[in-house]
Amino acid sequence: MTQPITLKFTDGRKNDSFLIGTFNPGEDRIDVILSEKENKRTTIELKDLCCVMMKGKTEIPRELKHEEIEEVETLDGERYQVFIPKNNVHKRGFLGVPVKKSSPYNLIFFTIGGVRARRRDRSLGEILKESGYVSDAEIDKVLIEQKRLRNLRIGEIIAENNRLSQETVDNAIQSVMKKNIHGKQVRVGELLISAGLVTREQVQRALESQEAGKKKRIGTLLIENGDITEEQLLMALAAKFRMKFVNLMDIVPSQAALNVLSLAMIDRLQVMPLEADDKSIVVATSDPTDHTISEILRFNTNRKVELVAATSDQITSATEKYFHRVEESMDELLEGMNQGHIDIEEDLEDSQINESDSQVIKFVNGILINAYQNRASDIHLEPRSGARGTLQVRYRIDGDCRIEHQIPSAFKRAVISRIKIMANLDIAERRKPQSGKIVLRMDRKKIEYRLETTPTVGDQEDAVLRILSSSRPFTLNEMGFSNKNLTKFRDIITKPYGIILCVGPTGSGKTTSLHSALHHLNKPDRKIWTAEDPVEITQEGLRQVQVNPKIGFSFQEALRSFLRADPDIIMIGEMRDEETAKIAIEASLTGHLVLSTLHTNSAPETVVRLIEMGMDPYNFADALLGVLAQRLTRKLCNHCKESYHPEKQVYDELVSAYGEENYANDELKTYSENFFLMKRMGCKTCDKTGYLGRMAIHELLTATEPIKVAIKQGKSMEKIRTIAIEDGMRTLRMDGIHKVIEGHTDIDQVYRVCV
Ligand SMILES: [Zn+2]
Repeated sequence: MTQPITLKFTDGRKNDSFLIGTFNPGEDRIDVILSEKENKRTTIELKDLCCVMMKGKTEIPRELKHEEIEEVETLDGERYQVFIPKNNVHKRGFLGVPVKKSSPYNLIFFTIGGVRARRRDRSLGEILKESGYVSDAEIDKVLIEQKRLRNLRIGEIIAENNRLSQETVDNAIQSVMKKNIHGKQVRVGELLISAGLVTREQVQRALESQEAGKKKRIGTLLIENGDITEEQLLMALAAKFRMKFVNLMDIVPSQAALNVLSLAMIDRLQVMPLEADDKSIVVATSDPTDHTISEILRFNTNRKVELVAATSDQITSATEKYFHRVEESMDELLEGMNQGHIDIEEDLEDSQINESDSQVIKFVNGILINAYQNRASDIHLEPRSGARGTLQVRYRIDGDCRIEHQIPSAFKRAVISRIKIMANLDIAERRKPQSGKIVLRMDRKKIEYRLETTPTVGDQEDAVLRILSSSRPFTLNEMGFSNKNLTKFRDIITKPYGIILCVGPTGSGKTTSLHSALHHLNKPDRKIWTAEDPVEITQEGLRQVQVNPKIGFSFQEALRSFLRADPDIIMIGEMRDEETAKIAIEASLTGHLVLSTLHTNSAPETVVRLIEMGMDPYNFADALLGVLAQRLTRKLCNHCKESYHPEKQVYDELVSAYGEENYANDELKTYSENFFLMKRMGCKTCDKTGYLGRMAIHELLTATEPIKVAIKQGKSMEKIRTIAIEDGMRTLRMDGIHKVIEGHTDIDQVYRVCV
């Protein structure tokens, strides 16, 4: 006689099979026919199983209906609601009858080693009622409220309604739960011995010191004695409980996760939330043996909880980073402030408002300096709505935003107002966007912050500051050009007249490139005018003009004015309209070198776009010297990147993306045992990201004869690209791949910025 069953092994495997004979809970092993090995009889030790689940409809025997219902949690975290029959303690485990009528099983045998926890199945309300904290009526009230609002922190509501501290509620849950858990707690010592991490003697020694009065956990003692590391302990425990062991350095928590737990709870439980949605939450703990953590989180968030293990150091530093850092860095920033060198250029006379609270002032100054010192390009201040909503501060560094501070909600309005005051904005106006600027001086350097405030939902006001520092221009050699591009670019910018365009999206470093060119050309025998918005880089010798479209001083106006002011070289920050483009081309045909930028994606597209904008193809073809398209990509950190020998397939993909013929023509490295690429690792210098700083990738189209002819003939973009590549142009992607092969970046970063 055989019976269909499902076996769940302690190592996580699950198997549908057939039991031979009837199940006897007193035996050590069972005989089964495993489904994948047909007709082959196998004997399985019960100690290797979590549970044996007998298939069949649940018919609950009448006598069981008055028994207690328990929730049994197996090692893999699955929970079963079962009736537990009386006199049901066997050598290897116990039996349970599923409560749910729809269960495919009618009987489950749980092994002692396969069970993580057993508890009487009751609600939070019942637990609190039993502890004498709240009455029936209060529980009903909460349940109604909970129905009304989903995703509500039920524990917090009970605490609030009954004026209990959250801690009291949590403690009640904890103590009641401990009382109700049967069975053995995990023997950490035994577990570590069987994992081969420690010897029995070491555990014995730790146990002795425990008895000598130290009320510490066995794991903690073993770590203190230097017998194991915290990582080893956690890995063993994580494996036992089927938890993931994670490195928090590699994980950026989601915004939803940061919002779901209160700071007090994070402190009390010593956990770090990582992911969350409406139904579940992933939280890191350094104590996998404490299952009350999962219960408390489940009650309080109304979500399914998945715990992962991480070291206590990492949890502490992550919670500091995402929840606390402000108070600490306030001090650090203060220190920086006291070292002086900072004056706010605008005079401030507000003293009657709490925006002038000295803590707020110092904090705001601190953020401004801290962001600049961290090479941030933008600061985002994002207040969350509600009385508890914090003010989140993010910095954009090397193109990506990162959360840097969470400011307590009490400060959020004052901080935003303080910034508006510094930028001379109307602080009473909170319903309309405003823009302004703040100028700081630090170490004789001028840093300008362009402020944009925007009203957001929930009666909040966001502020974004773009940091413009008066930096020195790069030399052409520092621009990251390939050798061929460097030679060609130097060649076209030293022509006496003509037009050179630098193109790409916002933030692709176009202005930086043009300033490098000007740096190269900046000699006393030439008059150089620039019109920019804003002036970000200043150079001695250039005559630089800040345009101001608000008062009608546009790029076009500036250009007309320059032409009357005896120029040799003119740089126009951006050709925003057709008219400006026309004048620029005419100027370049009448003996001036003109440099400008355009928001187009590629060099060939730029040529076609200008003709479409109404430029005369003949004039344009004559005037054009070259178009430089560029992107910025993150560079591998030089402190930690490591070389590796990739699979042939990786190499083949690079070659095919580059174009096989051109790859051979350009004599790039061929595949052999000595072919190496660089990969990111992560160290202290690069904040564990593996990337540090950015570099440009280029696509330089020069106006060769065939290109000029193609422009005059109105050829398509594809045609122009083909001719340009034949003439030696390398596309953004090809230049990027070249830089991957040279070990400056990786292919992911290249594909992020160009297809
Ligand atoms: Zn590094």
